Amino acid sequence: MSTVKADKVISVHYTLTNDQGDVLDSSRDEDPLPYLHGHGNVVPGLEAGLEGQKVGYRGDISVTPEQGYGQRNGVDPQAVPRDAFPEDFELEEGMQFVVENDQNEQIPVWCVGIKDDQVLLDSNHPLAGEALHFNVEIIDIRDATTEELHHGHPHGLSGDDDHHDDHHDDHHDDH
Ligand code: ZN
Repeated sequence: MSTVKADKVISVHYTLTNDQGDVLDSSRDEDPLPYLHGHGNVVPGLEAGLEGQKVGYRGDISVTPEQGYGQRNGVDPQAVPRDAFPEDFELEEGMQFVVENDQNEQIPVWCVGIKDDQVLLDSNHPLAGEALHFNVEIIDIRDATTEELHHGHPHGLSGDDDHHDDHHDDHHDDH
């Protein structure tokens, strides 16, 4: 029986809660989440907790911020004028995008607030500094296809999803 290890596509059901017990995310009302193990698709602590497990495994995996989305970087959210964005750009709270700083580095930022003509951008992941508690169930383990290994992510539960059916697009549609 196959076990969770690098280059396998693992499909898991998960419910993610924080220290307060608030449910932050769950796959339970949808299909299980497929991810490519060992490729940084999920946070390191979750990969470590699932390593070596088999289909049918159910358990609780708690992840420190260091093994999750990291500690907050100490930089407070910055307000930028709304008109710094193209007019047809639909800004939404929670949205992630990449901006270029003065050193021409690409840095990810999250929109954490929109107020009048100001947009609040945070360079911290929304879950930075949080301990993460995953309740997981392993639904399937399969070999990754050559294309999946090349791309570093799974193409759906079975590996034959159209590649243009990209996770980022899914994400925006869902929220
Ligand atoms: Zn791909």
